[in-house]
Amino acid sequence: MNKRVRVRFAPSPTGGLHLGGVRTVLYNYLFAKANGGDFVLRIEDTDQTRFVEGAEQYILDCLAWCGLEPDESTVKGGPYAPYRQSERKELYREYAEKLIASGHAYYAFDTPADLEEMRSKHRVDEHSTVQYDRTTRMHMRNSLTLSGDAVLELLNNGTPYVVRIKMPENETIVFSDMIRGDISFDSNLVDDKVLLKADGMPTYHLAVVVDDYLMKITHAFRGEEWLPSAPVHLLLWDFLGWKEDMPQWAHLPLILKPDGNGKLSKRDGDRLGFPVFAMNWYDPAKNETTTGFREIGFLPQAFTNMLAMLGWNDGTGKEVMSMEELIKAFSIERVHKGGAKFDFEKAKWFNNQYIQQTDNETLAKLALPYVAAQGGHPSPELFLKVIGLIKERCTLLPDFWAQGHFFFETPEIKELPAIQDKWNEAKRSFFESWLSGLELLSVWTDVAIEQHFNDYIAQHGLKKGDAMLPLRIMLVGGKYGPGVFHIADLIGKEETIKRIQTALAQL
Ligand code: GLU
Repeated sequence: MNKRVRVRFAPSPTGGLHLGGVRTVLYNYLFAKANGGDFVLRIEDTDQTRFVEGAEQYILDCLAWCGLEPDESTVKGGPYAPYRQSERKELYREYAEKLIASGHAYYAFDTPADLEEMRSKHRVDEHSTVQYDRTTRMHMRNSLTLSGDAVLELLNNGTPYVVRIKMPENETIVFSDMIRGDISFDSNLVDDKVLLKADGMPTYHLAVVVDDYLMKITHAFRGEEWLPSAPVHLLLWDFLGWKEDMPQWAHLPLILKPDGNGKLSKRDGDRLGFPVFAMNWYDPAKNETTTGFREIGFLPQAFTNMLAMLGWNDGTGKEVMSMEELIKAFSIERVHKGGAKFDFEKAKWFNNQYIQQTDNETLAKLALPYVAAQGGHPSPELFLKVIGLIKERCTLLPDFWAQGHFFFETPEIKELPAIQDKWNEAKRSFFESWLSGLELLSVWTDVAIEQHFNDYIAQHGLKKGDAMLPLRIMLVGGKYGPGVFHIADLIGKEETIKRIQTALAQL
């Protein structure tokens, strides 16, 4: 019988959630849903020195915003609770001890000074790194070099120790990655990683293997940066006798900076003017807030769709896909091996596509805070109409203000010089007489206003084009916005007349 598919996202709560992290969540989620499986959120907080207040809640909030809700988590609970590793602390020791008993791990009592001495003694030059490994371990203070009695005594008198894995010599460690195919490692190059720390907490290496086993994880998808850790994990699965149950692994390619090579970092985002975190992240240590995609006005559906396409496609060229479509089409084998360059313009394109697809009522709720923050307080009816008129032009939610502010306030006529350039008496006389006509216009619709405008233009022997741009600038303040008669319709007769009069007084 096939095992029920179970995947996990296992972040360490240390800061803002990078878009690469969200993409990892997304691929896990899509895979789980496509296979009728479970998506588990496990908080890997065993490194107490990196603990950051609020970071776990932030991750939960990001997942909720993205619509990627886990089936099991620290808040939801589940059959394998607790889902926070610090609360599972006691459980890992047993496995560390098993590994020691079977000769695959050992106690190491070295002090920081011992380790430093080893490094300086074995260092060839300042560039070489000295590892705690097969070449150095026999010169250190550990249960491989000390007698059994000495070890017991050290343990009994409470000497601090760590437990290290004993990496085998001259072995090739091989596994098959779902994206990259067969990957092999030379065991001689891997150091004796710490499994259990002096504070009794497991390291990531031990905890991730134990928990993936205990939580019955069938597939483990994680960032490519974890590939160097894979040999340690593979050996642990083997040494603990769990090889049969080892999840299938896929190491996801990096999201690269748009220019040059290398992983997209927060610094690149700052430098190039776009976010890299899903949501605003407040760093309590630095008392600093980093802006997120949510806050600059991304819709979560656009954000996740864009991320899905960073490193994957369904092969048909289709790009805009709903979560349901993604679930149907997604396969981990189609994820690219190479990194994907992040393209902010493309990300904005996705957002515009989703804004266009979203109904006006929903957009009104999403855009109102941005408009209100600028002092715009439209009536709900007006706001819905404006949204319908301008949504095509809006890429980010704050654009509903930038592209529509003149519906909610009398704009400053910033581009008056553009009218002045070609201003003449004929145009003035047209606008003045049209204004008096407008006062009497009884039907105030875009069609009626335009007809009325056309009639006056003809009477004045002008071309429509002579007066359209001036009219737009009078009503909007600049050379943008939707159809000018739609604008006049929505701002109303009184306001239209007032804006034309104000402009004429300045010309
Ligand atoms: N705790 C690791 C992280 O912070 C998880 C890596 C993994 O998924 O194995 O990304």
